Amino acid sequence: MLAFQYSVYVIPLLIAAVLSLVLASYALRRAEPEEAHTFGLLMAGIAIWTFFLALNVSGANLETQLLFNRLKYLGVVLVPPLWLLLALQYTKQDSIFSQPRYATLLFIPGLISLLIVLTDGWTHWWWPEVWLDDLNGYPFLGRSHGLAYFLSTLVDYGMLFAGFLLYVKFYRQTRALYRTQVILMLIAGGFPLVASIAYHLRLVSLPWGPDAFAFSISGILMSVAIFHYRFLDIVPVARRTVVEQIPEGMLIIDKEGRVVDANPTAYTLLDAPSDALIGRPLLEIPAPLGVRAAFATGMNMGLQAPFTQDVHVTRAQGARVLAVKVTTLSGPHDRPAGRIVLLQDITERVRVQQELETLYEETERARERMALIISTTTDAIVLVGEEGSILAMNPAARKALGTTYYAGFPAALRSWLKQVQEETHRATTEIEINQQMYYITAAPVTGTGLVFTMHDITHFKELARLKDEFVSTVSHDLRSPLTSILGYAMMAQRAGTSEERRLLALERIEASAHRMTQLIEDLLALATLEAGVQPTMESVTLDQLAQEAIEDLEGAALRKGVIIRTQLAPVPPVLANPKMMRQAWHNLLSNAIKYTPAGTIVVTTTTRNQHVEGVVRDTGMGIPAADIPYIFDKFYRVEAVVSADIVGTGLGLALVKSIVEQHGGQVWVESVLGEGSTFGFRLPAVAENLLSS
Ligand code: ADP
Repeated sequence: MLAFQYSVYVIPLLIAAVLSLVLASYALRRAEPEEAHTFGLLMAGIAIWTFFLALNVSGANLETQLLFNRLKYLGVVLVPPLWLLLALQYTKQDSIFSQPRYATLLFIPGLISLLIVLTDGWTHWWWPEVWLDDLNGYPFLGRSHGLAYFLSTLVDYGMLFAGFLLYVKFYRQTRALYRTQVILMLIAGGFPLVASIAYHLRLVSLPWGPDAFAFSISGILMSVAIFHYRFLDIVPVARRTVVEQIPEGMLIIDKEGRVVDANPTAYTLLDAPSDALIGRPLLEIPAPLGVRAAFATGMNMGLQAPFTQDVHVTRAQGARVLAVKVTTLSGPHDRPAGRIVLLQDITERVRVQQELETLYEETERARERMALIISTTTDAIVLVGEEGSILAMNPAARKALGTTYYAGFPAALRSWLKQVQEETHRATTEIEINQQMYYITAAPVTGTGLVFTMHDITHFKELARLKDEFVSTVSHDLRSPLTSILGYAMMAQRAGTSEERRLLALERIEASAHRMTQLIEDLLALATLEAGVQPTMESVTLDQLAQEAIEDLEGAALRKGVIIRTQLAPVPPVLANPKMMRQAWHNLLSNAIKYTPAGTIVVTTTTRNQHVEGVVRDTGMGIPAADIPYIFDKFYRVEAVVSADIVGTGLGLALVKSIVEQHGGQVWVESVLGEGSTFGFRLPAVAENLLSS
């Protein structure tokens, strides 16, 4: 039978219960700081405790008092573990109990105590004896305590004391700025301990333990420390927001090398599950091998500059590049106090950078190729700026112009360039610079000036001149015999011309016709050679061919009183066209006869170093030294010879040179004016076996 009556002791207990309830509901509705909920639960526990204690003292009989005293333990058992957890959270202690899984372990002793209390009616382990006492006229539950009670009290005080120690330790670590709030927590934490100890040592005389009051008063102090000071504490909140929101992944490492904080980006970048980072040593968190290697190096660094490394990692979405940066924080005495690890996904940046590098290399290669072309071309290329400054110029241009200054350009070139610039369209011209003829093309470049190129056409000009000269020489050389043929023909036909003069005219006509035939034959032979028509080759012996040429010309020599001697050693055969080689001998021999008024001609063949040589030496007029270099040119004749009216075309030696060179050989001449000349040529001898094939 439950029975109640009024007791004065109920008032303070109800006040404490209501106060605790208010604090609990306030705290449980708060999201910040993180320990608010733990504090709320603690206050709820105290509210339950004091509420049932109030009902207990209002009990009019033993049954009522006993029931509510037992129910009181529903709140009592919650207080020590929540107290300890609050201390852990508030002091930011890293403990296995910070994980919810282990935190529940703290509640087990209380649960056991609760079971014992609720079943005490049968076991009497908690209170071996209970009776109804009298306290100043009010009924009061008297009890003796069993072993279970003392064990449970020991565990509870252990937890309370551990919590108190945490506040002491935290106080010593905390900087002056935050000390007030820690002092409040210290007092709050110490107060119930002191009160209980005083009660148990019988220093105060109370019917029941002062714990419930003490905890309520602590609750007020704590709520001030937690909600007032923590909220003034803007810096940690701001820091938290910054850390959460920075685009880099961030890990805070304590001095033991464990991760104590990580922002969401860090989880994303490391692809880590939510429980994989906090509380673990940095070197053991799940991360790609390269990233871990970078962590290890970074952790080994002292207080020097931050360690940074780019790491390539493979992800499901493809290859990524992470920049890992480890900064060591300095603690007291410049010892490392912890580290900050920053992670940044720089894949995009690296890709753009690589693209730029490739682009640069390609451009550079193209530029180099272009520069190579421009620098090696034999055409001069010049880029002239608008004020007549030279913006670029290739080596060929420097060589052709002999200057790198616009002012140094030949006046003719400058005035022409000026004109082009004014007319603003492409133009070409021919200008002679330093004895060379150039074909110049200039084109204005909008906004820059103009670019001009110079092509050396001296050689083409020379060729054109030679062609003109050739045409006029040939026409002259053909016309003069023709004129004399016509003249003598008219004379022969004229009535009254004596028989003797007519015969003379016919002889002259024949000689002129011969000259023309000779000229045409020589020209044809040269043209054939120069056209590059391959003559048919066979094995021939030079001494044999020399003999044949001598036989042809012996008569002419005899008529002039010139003696021909031979030193024709049998020489190895050469691969040659017999008709052409006979012609070469013939030309050399006929020249020797023609330019030797009287004397001896020696014709020699010899073998020397795999070569066969043919030489014609005369004791004739010789050749002036100045003429020797040109003697093998087409139509070239020594002035003295022309004025002495010695008949010739100037093509004989050119023909010899062409023939010999076509056969892979060389010609040469040695001559002393007034003493005689030696003409020779040399051809490669051919091995027997090659000849037969
Ligand atoms: P040409 O029909 O005038 O003989 P060639 O080409 O055979 O033409 O010779 C060119 C020139 O070389 C001759 O005009 C002559 O002045 C000179 N020449 C050639 N052979 C001799 C020589 N054996 N002695 C002196 N001068 C020579």
